[in-house]
Amino acid sequence: MSADRKLYEGKAKILYATDDPEVLVAHFKDDATAFNAAKRGTIVRKGEINCAISTHLFRLLEACGVPTHWLDTPESDRMKVKAVEIVPLEVVVRNVAAGSLCRQTGIALGTEIDPPLVEFFYKNDELGDPLLTRDRLRLLNVATSETIDRLRELALTVNRHLSEFFASCDITLVDFKLEFGIASDGRIVLADEISPDTCRLWDRRETDSERRVMDKDRFRQDLGQVEDAYERVLERVLERVETLSNAVT
Ligand code: UDP
Repeated sequence: MSADRKLYEGKAKILYATDDPEVLVAHFKDDATAFNAAKRGTIVRKGEINCAISTHLFRLLEACGVPTHWLDTPESDRMKVKAVEIVPLEVVVRNVAAGSLCRQTGIALGTEIDPPLVEFFYKNDELGDPLLTRDRLRLLNVATSETIDRLRELALTVNRHLSEFFASCDITLVDFKLEFGIASDGRIVLADEISPDTCRLWDRRETDSERRVMDKDRFRQDLGQVEDAYERVLERVLERVETLSNAVT
């Protein structure tokens, strides 16, 4: 497999073509950005950690019947994925109020959201990824209304499985962002990554509102011990995955 023809370089990953047009390789970088890349830095070992966490979560979701782009993880910071056409939407699911929801609505940080909120943001850096309404989604025509309904349903299914999984790791899945793609057979599949870069994760073993943060908010808000937090998430995921696989065998 030659994986050297760079197709695209994003903020956190580089995509390479392979000999098979149906298969791409995603290289997870240590580069960290926040606030639409206004803040930049490096999180040591982030590429490997996010690749490993995403691998385990994609496999878990596949086992639960959620189609994903994951094919294989041949190297610690590289993932083989199905080539898909990315839907230019960021689908955010929220179980607990944080981030832009608090800033834009005044809802207090930490307020439980039940039923979970599903929000669609336009994936467009120049526009600053704006929140879209249903009517704006229709106006922009970025996806059919059937696709939007399916994205919502898939996002809620992912939320159910991931919330349960993270709870079993003593972690609250506060909110997260998903991206989807359309595969060559027309199926909608979960794409991108699921990691502490794209999820808010709060440690249930900590009560302090800063110490409990195990995700990119440590980088965004200069809370320190960013690497430590990412490592701890991976450790808990690995522990839990091992327990689950021992239970099966
Ligand atoms: N998120 C992401 N990429 C983005 C924007 C948000 O992965 O470009 C994730 C973020 O980490 C959080 C969730 O989506 O888990 C909701 O983010 P929010 O809308 O609260 O925005 P933020 O406060 O991060 O600006």
